[in-house]
Amino acid sequence: MRTPIIAGNWKMNKNRAETKSFIEQVKDFSVDGVEAVLCVPYTDLAILKDSLPSQIKIGAQNIHWADNGAFTGEISPLMLKELDVQYVIIGHSERREMFGETDETVNKRVHAAYKHGITPIVCVGEKLEEREAGKTKEIVKEQTEKALVGLSSEQVKQLVIAYEPIWAIGTGKSSSAEDANEVISYIRSVVADQYDQQVANEVRIQYGGSVKPENIVSFLAQSDIDGALVGGASLEPNSFMALVKGA
Ligand code: PEP
Repeated sequence: MRTPIIAGNWKMNKNRAETKSFIEQVKDFSVDGVEAVLCVPYTDLAILKDSLPSQIKIGAQNIHWADNGAFTGEISPLMLKELDVQYVIIGHSERREMFGETDETVNKRVHAAYKHGITPIVCVGEKLEEREAGKTKEIVKEQTEKALVGLSSEQVKQLVIAYEPIWAIGTGKSSSAEDANEVISYIRSVVADQYDQQVANEVRIQYGGSVKPENIVSFLAQSDIDGALVGGASLEPNSFMALVKGA
């Protein structure tokens, strides 16, 4: 039985005052049978550590593979641990497209997260032209296999994968729930081939791409979709709470 997980990705949004106001509005929110996570900018993590109610978990949006050193602009797993970070998004398409993230660096970051007890949320997904060329499965297979290189079965069982078709991110144009489910069950079969069916049955796979309170139920009703990674609709407290309730 896989527990659904809703993770909000604030991207580069919200200053300190806005973050405190958000927390104030979700402080009495109760969550049952669903994991709720907020992946916020680094500058907001300390505020979450001090005041986020414990039913919502703290997530970051990236992690470096080294514990410390000359890596200007990067953030160490140890620094995230100090701020009670439990989840970290790795390989988001915005990082892959704009900041040179590769399957190899994704894999290094995944190992670093596990080394320090942080659960990775690994993003995979195809571009519009790749979908139109019929390459969706090829792309997600390669990204998934390369992200998992060197992980143990136990680590993969705890992993969260987010299938995010790039053309659906921030566009208001979501995949149909059935299409998303088809790709996600394919990703599960890729994990089964790389590990075994038991591992594949336990790994949680989210859908991401223009998820909103109005469509979350249709995604979560699918056999293989275990939650959502949500950008825009996670920025507003009522919307975030509705997403979690919808799951
Ligand atoms: C995301 O940032 O991962 C995302 C899916 O964004 P949005 O929900 O805004 O499409």
